[in-house]
Amino acid sequence: MHCHDRLHYHSQLGLRRIVSLFSGRSSCFLFLFSNDLGTGTFGRVYLTKFRREPSYYAMKVLKKTEVVRLKQVEHINSEKQILSQVDFPFIVNLFTTFQDDRNLYMLLEYVIGGELFSHLRKAGRFTNDMTRFYAAEIVLAIEYLHSRDIIYRDLKPENLLLDSKGHIKITDFGFAKRVEDRTWTLCGTPEYLAPEIIQSKGHGKPVDWWALGILIFEMLAGYPPFFDDNPFGIYEKILAGRIYFPSHIDPQAKDLIKRLLTADRTRRLGNLKDGSNDIRNHKWFRGVDWQGLLNRTVKAPIEPPFVHPGDTGNFEKYPEVTDEDTADGDPYRSLFANF
Ligand code: AMP
Repeated sequence: MHCHDRLHYHSQLGLRRIVSLFSGRSSCFLFLFSNDLGTGTFGRVYLTKFRREPSYYAMKVLKKTEVVRLKQVEHINSEKQILSQVDFPFIVNLFTTFQDDRNLYMLLEYVIGGELFSHLRKAGRFTNDMTRFYAAEIVLAIEYLHSRDIIYRDLKPENLLLDSKGHIKITDFGFAKRVEDRTWTLCGTPEYLAPEIIQSKGHGKPVDWWALGILIFEMLAGYPPFFDDNPFGIYEKILAGRIYFPSHIDPQAKDLIKRLLTADRTRRLGNLKDGSNDIRNHKWFRGVDWQGLLNRTVKAPIEPPFVHPGDTGNFEKYPEVTDEDTADGDPYRSLFANF
């Protein structure tokens, strides 16, 4: 096990200003390392620590100009709002948000085990038992969100982190939305999009159950069921709906995947009369201790290695960025009034 910490102070992206903001607000002093945990389209996530406190945090920093340019204002405001309202063992905890002239900041719990994506790529594929464990924790999380009329819309191994004991923590609520019925924005990740999203038919909660089907397939096979070099090729395959199952996939898993990857939403598992109970009661999940999972007493299949609470060894390395934005003023503050 090696640890990749690069312990020097990061003065880019206006982080110096966070220091003054926090020292003004509370008497503690924010101390930042330049360890990048990950990168999104318009921001990055940094390992963060308060000087007089032992715990580590993850700070998601979003550049306002990029959020506006990529027309993500509504999504980011909704991410903040939804994450501050939810509280569930398998969903990342948001402590606070704030902004300065240039950036938006979200202070999150630090989830030390890294992305499920990295663990999956390292393993090639997961066993039936491992896949069932992660799928079951995700079923519970999606069930919780849906019970609050929240659709997640971006289920994929990159957004699933493992905590110190190896349990799932869903992160990145940029596409999550509170909807009672349907919504129309095309968003998500091509390989994980349900047919109704591609066809702009209006979509709702069943898109998350479709994505669960893709995820279970990807965990078992090591690759998603519909893939191509370009998004349009992927969309064509999704709409054609032909799934080629590798022969090693368990027949009951195959049955569940087919029921989740049902193009007709009115026949898709999770969207029938008994809702998510039909998924929990599917024979592939037989024997799962749902209450034990909720209490996190079921042992996870991977226990992520780490040598101290600020270890970033389970995350990929990202090249450092230099911030070229030298514009003065803050023309976009009013767009983020709730931050
Ligand atoms: P996001 O922009 O929210 O998708 O975050 C980009 C990447 O940063 C994720 O895929 C993770 O690798 C990492 N990341 C996000 N949130 C956290 C967190 N709370 N703890 C550790 N790493 C995180």
